[in-house]
Amino acid sequence: MSDEPVYVTQPYLPPLEEFVPYLEQIWQSKVLTNGGPMHQQLEKELCDYLGVEHIALFNNGTIALLTALQSLRVTGEVITTPYSFVATGHSLLWNGIKPVFVDIDAKTLNLDPAKIEAAITPQTTAIMPVHCYGHPCDVDAIKKIADTYNIKIIYDAAHAFGVKDDGGSVLRHGDLSVVSFHATKVFNTFEGGAIICPDLKTKQQINHLKNFGFVDEITVVAPGINGKMSEINASFGLLQLKYIDSIIAARKAVDEFYRSELKGIFGIKVVEESGQTTANYSYFPILVESGYPLSRDQLYLKLKDHNIFARRYFFPLISEFPMYRSMPSAKDANLPVAKGISLRVLCLPIYPNITISELSRVVSIIKGEK
Ligand SMILES: *Cc1c(COP(=O)(O)O)cnc(C)c1O
Repeated sequence: MSDEPVYVTQPYLPPLEEFVPYLEQIWQSKVLTNGGPMHQQLEKELCDYLGVEHIALFNNGTIALLTALQSLRVTGEVITTPYSFVATGHSLLWNGIKPVFVDIDAKTLNLDPAKIEAAITPQTTAIMPVHCYGHPCDVDAIKKIADTYNIKIIYDAAHAFGVKDDGGSVLRHGDLSVVSFHATKVFNTFEGGAIICPDLKTKQQINHLKNFGFVDEITVVAPGINGKMSEINASFGLLQLKYIDSIIAARKAVDEFYRSELKGIFGIKVVEESGQTTANYSYFPILVESGYPLSRDQLYLKLKDHNIFARRYFFPLISEFPMYRSMPSAKDANLPVAKGISLRVLCLPIYPNITISELSRVVSIIKGEK
């Protein structure tokens, strides 16, 4: 196949020469990490951009999730979604917490609030929902349940950078929200992540936990971890942030292209946006329904044959991995919607620099013209 490979995503890289001055500054200051000037500046600029009060940067989203759970002293059981990236479940296991999987809503593909209460036990201390594909969860319904049972909410908001609802950033919801700045995400710092904190006291506590639990030179108050973002990563974030509006605008154009081109293809269902006033177009999931001439996996392989690497996010379900599948809540019968979606979903390539000819290749294969 002579056509160039097209991946599901590709990071946006600003012109290299624009990164050099940041590196020069780091070389000059000789501050490489531990909350240096780039780190402080990025926290400030992200608060402004996202419209949140307090943010604590991390070296990746997974360590941020681990620390968010630790900081809220979450123990016992946590209700979560099987339809996510495996880090959601793993962050619970790393804290010695038992994940309890609850099925998703067929429309939003997020945790179904109507099914949460039945999964609550005396051991339940928190709910960890995911704003899947950056589509907001039913935050009001989830909050109502958490308030009733006096349990915490930690949003895995890894997909939700820049997403807003009627009241502002979706990252303000829950006791804490966690974002990822991994290379594959809408906004990236190569590797990185953050916890959105409701107040300064929480942010300071989290700052201690991400620095081994140190509160001063000689005092360690908790078994913290090394979760600090380096100055290189933070400075790349500062540069990337200058381009974020054009990155999201370019993604929006791709989203619109797909939506208009895929409309009316029998058996192909585009997952609708729901609930947000500002989307981030982080993914472009379609569902391959039974009316389509190929199965999901056949379409996936056909695209691959043409050098187009779509991804089956999220297949398998988290609950299907070996460290989860023997749990009672992991049974297929408990998760029929998630199971069905995971067998039909395919995420198509979407990123700022994808070309019209690449997009046309994707679409014409799906249309069966190739
Ligand atoms: C990317 C992702 C994570 C993990 O973030 P990293 O920064 O890669 O550690 C967690 N949860 C979800 C839903 C993700 O997509």
